[in-house]
Amino acid sequence: MQFNEIGLSSELLEAIERMGFSEMTEIQQKAIPPLLEGQDVIGKSNTGTGKTAAFSLPIIEKITEESRKYVNALILCPTRELAMQACEEIGKFSKFKKCVKPVAVYGGASMERQIYALKNGANIVIGTPGRVLDHLRRRTLKLKNLSTIVLDEADEMLNMGFREDIESVLSETPEKRQTVLFSATMPPAILQITKQYQKNPVMIKIESAAKTVDSIEQFYVSVPMGRKTDALHLLLTDKKPQSTMIFCNTKKMVDELTEELINRGFPAIGLHGDMKQSQRTQVMNSVKSGKSTILIATDVAARGIDVKGIDMVFNYDLPQDHEYYIHRIGRTGRAGKGGTAYSIVSGRRQELELRDIARYTKAEITEATVPTASVIKENAIANIKDSILESCNDDISKEAKSLAESLVATGVSAEALLGAILNKQVKDTMKTLPLFDVPRPITRKNGRKKETRNTVRVHINIGRKERIAPNFILGALVDATGLSGSEFGKIDIYDKYTTVEVPQEESDFILDAMQNEKINGYKVSVKIHEERDRRSDRSSSDRNRNNRRNYKDRGNGFKSHGGRTHEKNHFNGDFNRKKRKG
Ligand code: ADP
Ligand code: MG
Repeated sequence: MQFNEIGLSSELLEAIERMGFSEMTEIQQKAIPPLLEGQDVIGKSNTGTGKTAAFSLPIIEKITEESRKYVNALILCPTRELAMQACEEIGKFSKFKKCVKPVAVYGGASMERQIYALKNGANIVIGTPGRVLDHLRRRTLKLKNLSTIVLDEADEMLNMGFREDIESVLSETPEKRQTVLFSATMPPAILQITKQYQKNPVMIKIESAAKTVDSIEQFYVSVPMGRKTDALHLLLTDKKPQSTMIFCNTKKMVDELTEELINRGFPAIGLHGDMKQSQRTQVMNSVKSGKSTILIATDVAARGIDVKGIDMVFNYDLPQDHEYYIHRIGRTGRAGKGGTAYSIVSGRRQELELRDIARYTKAEITEATVPTASVIKENAIANIKDSILESCNDDISKEAKSLAESLVATGVSAEALLGAILNKQVKDTMKTLPLFDVPRPITRKNGRKKETRNTVRVHINIGRKERIAPNFILGALVDATGLSGSEFGKIDIYDKYTTVEVPQEESDFILDAMQNEKINGYKVSVKIHEERDRRSDRSSSDRNRNNRRNYKDRGNGFKSHGGRTHEKNHFNGDFNRKKRKG
């Protein structure tokens, strides 16, 4: 259903068209007509489904030359960002209806400027409950002619403890008013507000998107700190998706990742929340034309954009809001087609977060392995072999035939000739791939079994001389690895170095995670501390004459970090079981 089918005025339709909207979302279709009629509405719908337009278009529509002089509508939002965002959107919808003047009022901003705007003809006020109440008390905001009040993201406002403020605001509004409530969830507290403050509300429930993601295969890979881009590089190379969306949580990360992928030869492009409309259009054109097949975006930037034919979605950062996980992966697998989603996690904390997401969204997220360069190479070679054998059935052109004959006539062996041709093909598929043979980071079964686990000591090359304390060491380890502090055992600080007991199965990961880390400002190097050195520990504190020699005697004394040379891919860890559904 299109916007022009519900009797909106031409000024609004023109503005809507300018914003690139044509089809209404479900909540818009269902909520706008009763709102235009003046009915109370209670609407449940996920984030990103277009609720702002749903409640603001009827409000804008109803403002007339006569009613423009006072506040017609008040919209309460939980945060300053949401208030600003809604205000901005209302500004766009009313582009061709000059009598509409929205103003946002929120805490932490100049009171004077808000008062000025309120005095100068604001007729739609969008604000956070606290600041709205503040203005009401100062009498800089008057609601006696108010016809509509909207509680946007009502559940969130209640979560944030705004209940009393909301009720105080409601008590300042005329008895005869339209009360509109939108919420992503419907806890009992919301229903209570509804009962108390709404009159015969029309209830609109839009089913959660969760049900539509069944056709999407969901995986995760768990990689050491700092290796997400390499993992992504390998996955993209191996899976060869035709069109991809990669989600990051910050604009900065979008920028960095875009630049990095471009440097690595991928047709990537980034999309930002604060890009100008013209830039966004440019980005979208590049994606739609197929020039860029990898779109990197934040949740906010990706909202409301529609890219077709995405076969793979990556969560480079896990979404901060569980609900977003569904929106993100829902970018693929559209229109009944299957799709694949990969989440890349680093460290125990993110693994646990992903589990939470899986539980919350009732998704089945299976662990996958990052294909190593050698696996990718093997696959590529197998593909080349298949395609050559396949094309043996094809007709061979005269030109090719005579070229083949002349090559054979040179007396060079068939192997050598084929090898020369294949060399090139094989090389092409092997463009510099990151080495990714480091062992899987965390393969812990159950924390309680800890005492039965083997431990090793790692050696960190700073000690008492650097005025190091155990909590510096522990803090740095926890920070770099994402493991919990209880994973680490005894910390012994010597003059020149420190040893820490760590679970053996995590040691390679810990060494890897600690590369390039700083502790108390010192760049440290971390190694396995061998039994041999342990004997010298005692002497180190009394500055034994041998200390220096032992220290230098790295040939046997120090094992080099094994991770680099491991052939085996340890990514098939304990989490390899499939998550149970439900
Ligand atoms: P919600 O409040 O439900 O989280 P918003 O109102 O913030 O969602 O809308 C999410 C995004 O979708 C916004 O960028 C908005 O401009 C866009 N949008 C809303 N309605 C439509 C529509 N009918 N067609 C296309 N985009 C839309
Ligand atoms: Mg909203």
